[in-house]
Amino acid sequence: MQVKQAVAHFSSQLAAAGVDHPGLEIRLLLAQALNCTTAFLLAYPEYVIPPSLLKSLQLSVERRCRREPVAYILENKEFWGLPFKVSPATLIPRPDSETLIAAALSYAKTLPASIHILDLGTGSGCLLLALLTELPKAFGIGTDQSAEAIKIARENAHHLGLTERVKFVQDNWASSLSGTYPLIISNPPYIKHLDIEGLMPEIKQFEPHAALDGGMDGLECYRQIFPGAARLLSDNGRLLMEIGDNQQQDLVAM
Ligand code: GLN
Repeated sequence: MQVKQAVAHFSSQLAAAGVDHPGLEIRLLLAQALNCTTAFLLAYPEYVIPPSLLKSLQLSVERRCRREPVAYILENKEFWGLPFKVSPATLIPRPDSETLIAAALSYAKTLPASIHILDLGTGSGCLLLALLTELPKAFGIGTDQSAEAIKIARENAHHLGLTERVKFVQDNWASSLSGTYPLIISNPPYIKHLDIEGLMPEIKQFEPHAALDGGMDGLECYRQIFPGAARLLSDNGRLLMEIGDNQQQDLVAM
């Protein structure tokens, strides 16, 4: 089977399963199976796929047709232009969260270069590690309640060459930490418990609910985080957090 035939054949299977961008996603899965770039696939549509590789492509397509996110199948997601390993133990980094990185960077510019940054609920480590690549003298501590997530975050630190400047600690937010930090970041779970059922299958069936579920009103994790953050922030320090739609007023009041 040629690349262009595989793209046509498998993307129609993905489309029938309700996948949003079947043409793009089949190229991602095909590039993984062939261990090549998507540019190669566009340049060589007549390249004949070795039959031995078709089997693994077929398995990936079947997983995607069951609506498993393509990032879990590829075990990778790009964030802030960097590759991050992800697993079902970690939330998949979202482009929206790059806003938090931009805000943190503009605040960090006003601080000494060797600051220590705290990331509460680090997941794959994407936020903290992206910041550390931009702030070459800064240090970071990331916490997560999930040992599995911590393992992935450490692997990401290793791949990005950041192990010397970052530590990951298994912790329910920040209870084991002391000291003070001028910059604390967090993208906590903030979806209302009852709203999870209405999310797309990729999210509700595959992403860790512990990374999504913000309790009945969606604000439970903020309630848990604020006391620890208040204890750990240095004078004039800032806590920068991602929040959900329509949560601003309640959170500012809190
Ligand atoms: N900090 C990680 C991220 O932004 C994990 C967030 C979470 O699990 N809620 O992707």
